[in-house]
This record gives sequence, structure tokens and C-alpha cells, in this order.
Amino acid sequence: MKRIMQNRFFWLFLVVMFALPVLPQPIRVPEYWVTLLNYIGLYSIVAIGLVLLTGIGGMTSFGQAAFVGVGAYSTAYLTTQFGVSPWLALIVGVVLTALIALVLGAVTMRLSGHFLPLGTIAWGLALFFLFGNMEMLGKYDGINGIPVLNVFGIPLESGRHIYYLIWVVVLAAVISVQNLLNSRPGRAIRALRGGGSMAEAMGVNTAWMRVVIFVYAAVLASVSGFLYAHLQRSVNPTPFGLNHGIEFLFMAVVGGVSHVWGAVLGAAILTLLQDYLQTWLPKLLGESGNFEVIVFGILMVLLLQYARQGVWPFVARFFPRGPRAHVPDHAEPLPQRSKPMAGETLLSVVKARKQFGGLVAVNDVSFEVKAGQIIGLIGPNGAGKSTTFNLVTGVLQATSGEIAFRGERIDSLTSREIVKRGIGRTFQHVKLLPGMTVLENVAIGAHLRGHAGVWRSVAKLNGAEEGRLMAEAALQIRRVGLEQHMFDEAGSLALGQQRILEIARALCCDPTLLLLDEPAAGLRYQEKQQLAVLLKKLKEEGMSVLLVEHDMDFVMNLTDRLVVMEFGTRIAEGLPQDVQKDPAVLEAYLGGVE
Ligand code: ADP
Ligand code: MG
Repeated sequence: MKRIMQNRFFWLFLVVMFALPVLPQPIRVPEYWVTLLNYIGLYSIVAIGLVLLTGIGGMTSFGQAAFVGVGAYSTAYLTTQFGVSPWLALIVGVVLTALIALVLGAVTMRLSGHFLPLGTIAWGLALFFLFGNMEMLGKYDGINGIPVLNVFGIPLESGRHIYYLIWVVVLAAVISVQNLLNSRPGRAIRALRGGGSMAEAMGVNTAWMRVVIFVYAAVLASVSGFLYAHLQRSVNPTPFGLNHGIEFLFMAVVGGVSHVWGAVLGAAILTLLQDYLQTWLPKLLGESGNFEVIVFGILMVLLLQYARQGVWPFVARFFPRGPRAHVPDHAEPLPQRSKPMAGETLLSVVKARKQFGGLVAVNDVSFEVKAGQIIGLIGPNGAGKSTTFNLVTGVLQATSGEIAFRGERIDSLTSREIVKRGIGRTFQHVKLLPGMTVLENVAIGAHLRGHAGVWRSVAKLNGAEEGRLMAEAALQIRRVGLEQHMFDEAGSLALGQQRILEIARALCCDPTLLLLDEPAAGLRYQEKQQLAVLLKKLKEEGMSVLLVEHDMDFVMNLTDRLVVMEFGTRIAEGLPQDVQKDPAVLEAYLGGVE
């Protein structure tokens, strides 16, 4: 029922939007309002790209207005100078934008912290001055006489005509981004937030993913610029400057920076508010000037204080939420990698060493993990367990020594390369996407077992593969016993369940070896028991586990062998009951008591 209501509002919205320009005389919408709606549509297209880039990908860009300019100038120049068809000019503009974004993205998207926004300001300004200083682009006067667009023989001469084209593009942009987000690359994009180390550990090429969404957002801006040029019939550099780049960012933030429809809402609010303020503020203050900027600034501060998610969540229930991940009834199982023979040496660490400056965090440590075993790596705080873990998973590079997995050296590989070879991992501090369902979170682990890229996902040609990935995620969720929470938000789970979610996500990589970093830390007694039961079950199914753990009791009845570290050095190795009696271990753990 609720869904039908949602959709009813949405359909009403569509019908109203469709009817607005063609209402007959007594209720005919004035030209002025049609113009405003056209601008809202144009800004929405840019803001939708920013939602993807900034809201979801976590990369702030002040420079989007410059890409609008690239699209606008491309068509202006080609149609007026060479009489090229606008549609051909659109293609050229989009390709040119994509190329520029590819180069700029490759350079700036790897910047971290505040260097990234500063970088976008730099190239935003650079492109703006380029438009204003190039002879062939008419310098600051710009280009006039841009032809009218023609769709199926209909000239889009008036604002009322181009209105339809603009809003069809808005709708297409919304749908394409929603499709993208609800897909294999989309889950990878959503996993970029928070540095992307989790995404990398699941096999996502995060650097490339960042560039891809940067290009996508730039192309949307460029298409908006194309439409703008043919609406205005003339272009000059002013609308493509930095202040407009900031306004686009405002729109995305006001609407709700991580909601695709929020971009449209934000564009509407800011455009209408700006229009209103520009008329009234000068009258009120008795002076002319861009006073609305001050109001926007105040609005922004209030919003960040009281409604971080923007305005969108307040109206969200009236709109469809976009496609959601679901589990198909039947799906062909994903192929699995060949499993090792029981007893085969999986992981061998030989004299691994890691120094941080003068500190030897891992001092020539050696141990092995054989197929079908659970090995515990234990030791007091600061012993070097996590560092050893990071050496094996490729997060850190060993200073010296050898690490091999199934006979292949892995000590110089990145974490993305290592997960490809079948080592799945969890994190000491859980890294999951709290707003996404358990199912979607676990499916991130299956990233490497799918192939669908951005284009197939946007066009929804990824259905079959998506079904297989979801079926695999559901299978692993059942395997670890979280099926009751499959469609709950991951953030709503208790810590113990979140740890188990991470194990399911790691199992989705189809690992031969599972690496767990302090999975029992912070868990209540009962949660620890459940975790131990799960790990024993996985072992019975043939899984091999390397368990880094501080808690001696937890590992005692669970592991086949223990490796004990203290101050970076291996002080004991053997069967749990023997290690427990080892004087050096007692000394390290209990300070010599007993
Ligand atoms: P454990 O996980 O056993 O508690 P760690 O591997 O985290 O221990 O740390 C081992 C030692 O290495 C500690 O003395 C810690 O301070 C040091 N260490 C860990 N990571 C770094 C780092 N990135 N830079 C400098 N020192 C580090
Ligand atoms: Mg640790």
C-alpha cells in the first residue's frame, strides 16, 4: 500500500511536469515560470552528477561549472563556425569533456583531504579563463547565433518546447545514476567513502573507480551545457565561473547530497530562492548587489548544523526509492576456484620483517598455515600482530623476508592483487556501509566474481550477473546465520553481528584462506560463543583461517596451532595446550605470575 502511495505521488509529479507548459489559457503558465523550470532542469542535471561524485563518492568538486562550459562552447563553436549539426556537436562535446575529465581526474582524484577541492578550484578557474581569453571563442563576448535544436523535425524554438527535452534528460540522468548505484560498480562506488581501503581489500580498483565517476559527472555537466547553449542561443564565460561551481555544490548539498532525486529538489530550491531574493533583497535594502549569496551562506551553515542529509529525507517518502537489491529465486551459482588438498601448505611466512624507522614491529617472524587449519596468531597489545596481518594482506610491504601463498610470492603485491588470489579478510575496526542493507554489504565481497561495468549497469544489461552475485551474497549470509537480517541496514546490527557480516563478505570472495583481525574484540560472552561456533563450522566445511587475537581463552579451544608474538618476535609456536604451558608465553601474558 505504501509503495502504491509513493508511486502515486511520483506519477502525479510526472503528469504535472508534463502538463505545465501546455495548460490552456486561463491557467496557462507564464513564460517566466517555464524559463525558471528550464533552468531548474539544467541545474539538476549538473547536480545529479555531483550527488554521484561528492555525495556518494565522497569527492568534493567546485569545478563542475567549467564542464558545463565545455559542453556549451563545443556546440556553440562547431555549429556557428562550421555549421555542424548540433547533435554531432553534442557527441564531440561529450567526447571532449570525457577526455578533459579523464586527464584532470587522473591527476586530481588521487589528491586527498582538502587538496582535492583545491585542485578542482584550480582547473575550474583555468578553464574559465581559457573560455574568456581564446580568440576563436569570442573572448569575454562569447559566441552568438547558436541555432535552434531540432528533434524529429520539430524545432525547439521556444522555452516551452525545449522544456520537454531538458526534463527528459533530467529523468534519464536520475534513472541512469540510480541504475548505476544499484549494481556491481555502484556498490564499489559507494564503498569509496572513508578512504577506500575496504573497497581495495575486496578487489575494487578505487583509483580507477574515482576517475570513472568523475568523468560521468563531467559528462552530465557537459550535456547540461549543450542544452543551455541551445536554450540561450548564445554563450559567454560568466555562467561557467567558480561561483557557479559553488552554487552547483550548494544545490547538491541542500537537496540531500547522497540522494539522486535530492539534486533536483536542491536545484529547484536554490533557483527559486535566488530568483525571489534577487527581486526582494535589493528593494528591502535599498541597494543593488548580490545579497542572495549572504543568505545562501547562512542557509548552508544552518543546514550543515541541523540537517546534514539535506531537505530530501523530508520529502523522500513521496518518491520511489529507485531499484533495490533483491535475491532472485533461481540463479546459476558462480564458478569457484579450485580448492587445496587438506594439509597443503597455503601460507608460508619466512623471516618476515617490518621496521617503522627504528622500531622493529615484526622481527623475522616465520610460520605456516596449512589447508583446513585454524591458526591463531596471539600476543599482548603492541606485539606486532596487526602489522603481520597487514604484511600478509598487502596493506603494508615487508622490509625483508618472504611471504608466499599457494607457492607464489605475494609480498610485493597490493591488497587488491592478494584478494584476487584467494585471501579474504575482515577488519579489526569493522568497515561496512551502515546505510546499505546486509545483502548489499555482503555483495561487495563478490566484486571480483562479476564483470559488469558502468555502461552495462547504467543500461540495465547486468540483470543475469546481478542475480548471480545476489544469490551468492544470500548464500554466504545464510552460511553465517544472518539470514534474518538480510534486508536490514548494516548500521542497525549489533557489533557481534557486524563482525559476522564482515566474515560473510570475506566469504563472498571465494577465499581459500580467511584472515580475521581480532574478531572477538569488544564482543559479549555470548557473541564470542556464536563466533566460535561459526568458525568451527567453517573449518568443518574445509575453510582455512588465520586468526589474529588478543584473547587467549577464545583461541584455546578453537585453533589447531598457535603462534605467539611479543615485541615483534615469535616467542612460541605449537599446539594450544603446549603453548599455554610455555614459560615464555606465561611471562608475556601474565607477567610471570603462576
Ligand atoms: P598488535 O596488533 O599486536 O597490538 P601492532 O602490529 O599494531 O600490534 O603494533 C606493533 C608495534 O608497531 C607497536 O609498537 C606499534 O606502535 C607499532 N606500529 C604499528 N603500526 C605502525 C605505524 N604505521 N607506524 C609506526 N609504528 C607502528
Ligand atoms: Mg592489533
